[in-house]
Order: sequence, then C-alpha cells, then structure tokens
Amino acid sequence: MQTAARVASGPVGDTHSDWVARDAAVVWHGFTQMSVYADNAPIVVERAEGREIIDVEGRRYLDAISSLWVTTLGHRVPELDQALRDQIDQVAHSTMLGHGNRATIELAEALAPRVPMDDPHFLFASDGAEAVEQALKIAFQYWTNQGVEGRHQYLAFTGAYHGDSIGSLSVGDGGFGTDVFNPLCFSVRRAPYGDLAMCVATIAEHAERLAAVVVEPLVQGAAGMAMCTPEFMTAVAEACRRHDVLLICDEVATGFGRTGTLFAVEQCGVRPDLMCLGKGITGGYLALSATAVSRRVYDAFLGPDLSDRTLYHGHSYSGNALACAVARRHLELIDEQDVLANVVARGAQLAAALADGVAPMAAVSEIRQRGLMVGIELAPPVEGLRWGRRVSAACVERGVLIRPLGDVIVLMPMLTSTAEEIDRIVVVVASAIAEVTTT
Ligand SMILES: *Cc1c(COP(=O)(O)O)cnc(C)c1O
Repeated sequence: MQTAARVASGPVGDTHSDWVARDAAVVWHGFTQMSVYADNAPIVVERAEGREIIDVEGRRYLDAISSLWVTTLGHRVPELDQALRDQIDQVAHSTMLGHGNRATIELAEALAPRVPMDDPHFLFASDGAEAVEQALKIAFQYWTNQGVEGRHQYLAFTGAYHGDSIGSLSVGDGGFGTDVFNPLCFSVRRAPYGDLAMCVATIAEHAERLAAVVVEPLVQGAAGMAMCTPEFMTAVAEACRRHDVLLICDEVATGFGRTGTLFAVEQCGVRPDLMCLGKGITGGYLALSATAVSRRVYDAFLGPDLSDRTLYHGHSYSGNALACAVARRHLELIDEQDVLANVVARGAQLAAALADGVAPMAAVSEIRQRGLMVGIELAPPVEGLRWGRRVSAACVERGVLIRPLGDVIVLMPMLTSTAEEIDRIVVVVASAIAEVTTT
C-alpha cells in the first residue's frame, strides 16, 4: 500500500524534467547506469516524423543512429503504417507451435528468394540475440541428429558481438562491461577477425570439434565498425565447405540494405548454411528476428513424429503476425523506393564529406565505412577523457542524435537519408569534435 501510494503521487508533470523523473522512477534502461541516468540529458521521445524524433517538449532530433540501427526507411512510413492497420483488422498474433499464420507464411515466401541460401526455411523469434541463439542450437543438433559426436565447439571472432543472451554472449568477444557474465558463458575458439590465413588454418585444424563458424559478414558493428574483406568471407566459407563445418552468418546489423546490398554476404558470393536476421527486418517497427536455415540443415531435423530429431525450441511471440505483415511490406518498399541505390549514393557522398571535413582533424585517427555504417575512431591523447560520450552529447545539443561505442563515433543514418541530411550530419559531427577535442 505504502509503495503504491508513493508511486501514484510521484512526479506526474509534463515538462521534460518531469518525464525524466517519471522515467527514472520506474524504467530500467539497458547498458545504462541508472544512478546518473537523469544527469546525462536523456531524450524522452513523444513522437517522430520521417527521420526525426520529437521529444516531449517538441524538440526535434535528426536520428543519425536509426534508433540503434533498426530504423531503415524512417518513422511513420505511410505504407508500413497501413500494412500494420490492415493486419490488425485480421489478427495480431497466433502461435507458431504446430500451427500456421497467413502473415508469417507470406513473409517467409517473400524472404526465401531474397536470402542467398539454398531452399531456406525460417524459424522466427523476436530479437537478434534469439536468432543467434537458435542458430547455435540448430548447428549443434544438426550434428547430433546425424550421430556425429564431438562437434560441441564454435569458432567465433575477436571483436564479435552477437547479442546478450548467454549463448549469444558466449560467441561474442566481451566488452561493454559484460565480462561479469564470463563464468556463465561457454568457451569458444576464437580467431582474429579478418585474418584469412589464421582463420582458415584454425578451421582446418579443429574442424572435427566445430559445430559451426559464427561470423558477422563484412562489418562487426558493435566492435566500432571493424571491417573484413569480401575475400576473407569467401575464404572462410570455402574452408567451412572443405572441412564440413556449418557457416552461420549474423546479418542482424548488416542485413536489409545497410551495406548497399540487401545482405552483406551478397558482396562476397557466400551462401551460408544459417543466417541470423533482425534489426532492420521490420524497418524498425516491431520486434522480429529470424534464423534462416538451408535445406541441408533443415533436412537433418526430419524424422518420425515426436522423435528426438525434432527441434525443441520456440518463443511465445515467434512469427508475430503484425510484425510479419510490416516486414513483408518493408521488403517490397526496399524495391519500390529503390532504397539500395540511395544507400550506395548517400554512402559515397558521406565518405567524400568525411574525408574532406572530418578525417583531417587531429583528434580523428581512422574512419571505417561500408554503405551507411560508419565508425569515426577518435584518438584521445590520454585515457579517461570520454571523448566519444562528450562528442555525442555535443551532437545531440546540435539536434543530431548520435550514440558512440567507446571513443568511436557511430553514424548509422537511415537508408532513405537525403543529401542535405548527410551534409548536416557531417557538419554537426565535425563541429562537435572540434568543440570537445580542442578545449
Ligand atoms: C544487435 C545485434 C545482435 C543482437 O540483436 P538484439 O535484437 O539486440 O538482440 C546480434 N548480432 C549483431 C551483429 C548485432 O548487431
């Protein structure tokens, strides 16, 4: 009674600081130290238009991180809004366990010819981490279903990030303060990302113990936009094929146009055995992810009813009809609006503008970019300056929403960004870097 009364009579005003207080009183934010949450000038969003988010006092911010990499076309896209309304009039959700749903089937049919895989099936979930978790479990059981023993290990890469569930955290390479969970994680064989010779040798040497290789194709987003070459990806895929190890490509960050093709593996001529999809799959609208599985892997799970070849895994909201309807319309819009061409054009413009206005700055040590994924590495002269955090805060003050990864300034503009917006982002970032690093 006491607690309920206190919450009910808590701050209920309508100013920005009232909302921050109400937020801090009841919401726990991920990757955020809540004791200082309110002091770090959080934005409290009320609505959005196109590529801008609008806070509770009407301030507008150009969203240069696409709501942490999920928004593709923009907010309140009329066609996606309509797809959602249309589906709501049919059904919001029904279970995938043993039964089907039209919206889910139609999405899988639309995805199947677009993912570069052999005759894929899709196991849906809600977050990228779950898509990875599903892939790890499927890869493991693929071998046990065939009576192959000892394939218990995964090869993953330095700098990898695959999500925050215990399995996906295990194949990730730590960082972000998650090391506290190390005692809970299983051990993983690790190779240097991008080191072709070392990786191929490791696969050859340990193939008999490996269930799968797990890799982020072309770009490791959370590592601060670490890059590998298409040749590296091709060699990894080739080594997997030669030594009969499954290849899991985590396209949660790179998928749905981010790097200029629908999927990054298309630029490498790689056809994975399993693919993890998430983030941009619904254009940033709803929680949906999927593990795509090639025919060879899928077939290993077929057997008598109730047999132990079955995949005993599922989530309550798997294949959610609202999310699937939006995802299917989103896939159509990527073609209708020629979104990939815009990614290529704006990516080239962004690269040129950064080379011109940001790369020469003394505080900048390197700029890494693929499509509309960019990491600007700052080089603070001593530790503890928190340049990444301070530069991002200076961008937010200038009306451009940025979130850093350590001292890497991440730019993830939406795929429909205009030339003017790209120029504005670069001008704002350059002036923010200048302000923070020269005073
Ligand atoms: C974000 C991300 C994930 C995790 O996705 P969530 O939806 O946050 O669980 C997995 N892999 C990669 C490459 C990612 O960028």
